[in-house]
Amino acid sequence: MRPFKLLDPRSLDEACQMLDRYGEDVKLMSGGTAILILLRQRVFSKPYFINLKAVPGLDGIRDEPGTGLRIGALATLRAVETSPIVRQRAPLITETFRLVANVRVRNSGTLGGNLSHGDYRLDPPAPLLVLGAKAVAVSSRGRNTYELKEFFRGLFETALQPDEILTEVVVPDAPPKAGTAYFKYTSLSETDWPCLGVAALVTPSDGGGTCGELRVAVTSVAERPMLLEHLGPLARGKRLTERLLEELGDAAAERVDPIADARGSEWYKKEMVRVFVRRAVREAARRAGLAAG
Ligand SMILES: Cc1cc2nc3c(=O)[nH]c(=O)nc-3n(C[C@H](O)[C@H](O)[C@H](O)COP(=O)(O)OP(=O)(O)OC[C@H]3O[C@@H](n4cnc5c(N)ncnc54)[C@H](O)[C@@H]3O)c2cc1C
Repeated sequence: MRPFKLLDPRSLDEACQMLDRYGEDVKLMSGGTAILILLRQRVFSKPYFINLKAVPGLDGIRDEPGTGLRIGALATLRAVETSPIVRQRAPLITETFRLVANVRVRNSGTLGGNLSHGDYRLDPPAPLLVLGAKAVAVSSRGRNTYELKEFFRGLFETALQPDEILTEVVVPDAPPKAGTAYFKYTSLSETDWPCLGVAALVTPSDGGGTCGELRVAVTSVAERPMLLEHLGPLARGKRLTERLLEELGDAAAERVDPIADARGSEWYKKEMVRVFVRRAVREAARRAGLAAG
């Protein structure tokens, strides 16, 4: 690893000024779990890193009535996973975060680092996408809010500009009576990166018995996590029969363009999308009090 200098800003303003001053020579560091591996492998190097952990007040987790959960970008994945407020307001996030990597990684890795990295093999984007989360970024130019569905642009590419710092993620409350589920499938070992992750949210229609709203997001398959918005209209107002679940799985598999890697070929990942979308929707429907099948 090439030597570098770690800068310790004492405020967000100072961190933004450092980004402006050092430009191409600097990169942000939060938990360092992703970046230190790349540095050790000499994938890249920078003479300066800004240690965001030095900035106070970026790791809070709170519930703001009328807005939803506000999770600071510097909150560790473990802090989010074990937060009683998160468990109460968005159990889908708790369910997902406890499946990320292992406790050691979750203790250091942060939510902001996870999303900003733009890796395609991440779990957290899936539940956050179905919950309609937004990412808030700050720079010396001001504040920007990104819909998470617009945030992931491609492989290791997000909407964040080079001078922006992700400061928090805002998660609106799920619709009333919603059932949610996250299915992570690992094809190598249990604590491995996902081969596939699927999050689903289902609400019962007003009269009950049929599906009101359906939201599904997949991650680790294509070059970026995706909200599959075409699935909702296919299910609205219908009973979630096994036949419809199959149709939803097929429609999801048709839309994704998988990346082949050590965890599966393109064909295999498409088949897994088919299977796991079906399972996630069935489970979310069950939790919403809808008998699927
Ligand atoms: C062994 C191992 C297994 C893993 N398994 C999984 C898994 O199963 N599922 C999963 O989802 N993830 C997995 N991960 C990835 C892990 O979740 C990420 O490494 C972690 O979340 C990154 O957070 P960090 O704070 O350490 O980021 P850092 O390493 O500090 O930064 C990552 C990137 O984000 C940028 N960045 C950091 N913070 C900000 C910010 N606030 N604003 C703007 N840019 C920022 C940095 O410049 C860098 O480019 C695994 C990692 C390891 C090492």
